[in-house]
Amino acid sequence: PSPRSSVIIIGAGVSGLSAAKVLAENGIGDLLILEASDRIGGRIRKEKFGDVSVELGAGWIAGVGGKESNPVWEIAAKLGLRTCFSDYSNARYNIYDRSGKIFPSGIAADSYKKAVGSAIQKLKGLESNCVEDATNRTDFTLTPKTPIELAIDFILHDLEMAEVEPISTYVDFGEREFLVADERGYEYLLYKMAEEFLFTSEGKILDNRLKLNKVVRELQHSRNGVTVRTEDGCVYEADYVILSASISVLQSDLISFRPPLPRWKTEAIEKCDVMVYTKIFLKFPYKFWPCGPGKEFFIYAHERRGYYTFWQHMENAYPGSNILVVTLTNDESKRVESQSDEETLKEAMVVLRDMFGSDIPDATDILVPRWWNNRFQRCSYSNYPMISNNQVINDIKAPVGRIFFTGEHTSERFNGYVHGGHLAGIDTSKAVLEEMRKDERQNDKQNQNF
Ligand code: FAD
Repeated sequence: PSPRSSVIIIGAGVSGLSAAKVLAENGIGDLLILEASDRIGGRIRKEKFGDVSVELGAGWIAGVGGKESNPVWEIAAKLGLRTCFSDYSNARYNIYDRSGKIFPSGIAADSYKKAVGSAIQKLKGLESNCVEDATNRTDFTLTPKTPIELAIDFILHDLEMAEVEPISTYVDFGEREFLVADERGYEYLLYKMAEEFLFTSEGKILDNRLKLNKVVRELQHSRNGVTVRTEDGCVYEADYVILSASISVLQSDLISFRPPLPRWKTEAIEKCDVMVYTKIFLKFPYKFWPCGPGKEFFIYAHERRGYYTFWQHMENAYPGSNILVVTLTNDESKRVESQSDEETLKEAMVVLRDMFGSDIPDATDILVPRWWNNRFQRCSYSNYPMISNNQVINDIKAPVGRIFFTGEHTSERFNGYVHGGHLAGIDTSKAVLEEMRKDERQNDKQNQNF
């Protein structure tokens, strides 16, 4: 059996690595990180596509330019990570119908106002604490029906550009968002973080306190410690465990707990909604879409909500790359994940020909991430219902005995974001350090009495 560690951290995404770094900085040398996949980074992941690195997971540093400084932005700035400012505000003026006409700005603005109005009304109903009442009281003249209304409703609700409710990230850190456009990838930030406490050489982590391809399947816990069992039959012992698997992994049966988690915990875990968010990358032999100021984002209005609605060209990020990105969410993401990439490419080409005419060239390559079907993720991020009370998130975060929970889904103010994961990892490791100090004090007392 492996020697006993003070703390085992499960998962080497941003939250797990941030937690490990704080522990290491506080003198916990005998930590162990068990990561299920063959890499660090989790939902931060670059991949080569054409000649450039594209971000399959997190792409933006959201929340910049406000009164407080976003810690992830600070780290990125220190490392000189290349980023580009994203201005979504013009997207609503680049809405195409199925015949390729752009909606006049007046119609777009009216539809936008209506969508915001309907969302606010729904929220007020929900705040009065009665979902049924909210549905009944919805003014149906405000319910999105036409393709443009559906498109705007999708943008408002599924892509988090909500102007309906204050979002803590924007309130605290500012409303600007920067796309990471660096060949080293967003994940470079994590490698640099790991480098500060793990042994690395020539860009590779060689420290045996990080174990890749270790899929944790069981946590057996007692008052004295935690026994961790992995899929390949290994057993690890620790005083404490920090578990950073996503909320969807916790909702799945990947990890079992002995004894089982208490009911308050499992009920809270079940209550959290999740979002699947899929960026599909398409490469073309040449550009046929408009570029220049205010044209980076464009919208396709179709009678099916969320059907290839939100588009972005990569010319600002990577000039000359001839790449377009279309974002799908939830049911559309799951549908596309289950079909072949050729089918998805065909669908996307029909949409693009609707918008830009029949003589545009076919895409020469496509990249479709599959977050939903990845058993180590099963979602893109947590999405607490707008009116959920803090009790749910507190219960999700609360430790069970010696098992501590971390990850973006445990961040009260910034769930869903990279900085949420980062700050959650720091918080959780501080809570574990506090427990360790308590243990020490108790041991000292016992020794004195002895
Ligand atoms: P993860 O990164 O999921 O880390 C958990 C780790 O645990 C993973 O490496 C996983 O492999 C491992 N693991 C799981 N189960 C086990 C097991 N049984 N045993 C061992 N290891 C296990 N955020 C932003 O701020 N800006 C964005 O623009 C943005 N866009 C996004 C777009 C997409 C498509 C996605 C998927 C996410 C996006 N996010 C964005 C969210 C952001 O990526 C996450 O909030 C953040 O990376 C989560 O970090 P984490 O450490 O909590 O979880």
